[in-house]
Amino acid sequence: MTQILVLTTGGTIDKLYFDALSQYQVGETVVGRVLATARVTHPPRIVELMRKDSLELTGEDRTIIAQAVAEAPESHIVITHGTDTMADTARALATAIPEVLESKTVVLVGALAPARFAESDAPFNLGMAFGAAQSARPGVWITMNGQVFDGRHVRKDRAIGAFVGN
Ligand code: GLU
Repeated sequence: MTQILVLTTGGTIDKLYFDALSQYQVGETVVGRVLATARVTHPPRIVELMRKDSLELTGEDRTIIAQAVAEAPESHIVITHGTDTMADTARALATAIPEVLESKTVVLVGALAPARFAESDAPFNLGMAFGAAQSARPGVWITMNGQVFDGRHVRKDRAIGAFVGN
């Protein structure tokens, strides 16, 4: 059975609403709960790397993500990530660890509405990411909007709130 690693970095997928502060913050990851609800029988290893909105991610953070990918024994890896700079991280991985990506399939995924929300896109997006992580060839990919994108040739179009290939 394919062993999958999930690295969580934050983003809206794990956000929750703090009433007293009237704002959203990244909370404890809900990926495990989403997978339990989906009756995933062979649970992945989940490692919470950071809890950041992706607009706050630094070069150092991206080095930490690349190291976690490179050092993982698993060769099928899903990274949960905010959508605003998801394409930047995908390209950073492709540049930092090209030799690692010759043998590992890495899929970045996020959600435009928190997984804690009833109408969130998170469960569908995570499902897509798990499918792609097990079936796409080695490299870095982004799954959003029901599509699988080459992580080196994709951008988020903020005007339409969706990812487009480029
Ligand atoms: N600024 C947020 C982020 O990139 C955008 C919403 C999202 O998480 O996708 O983390």
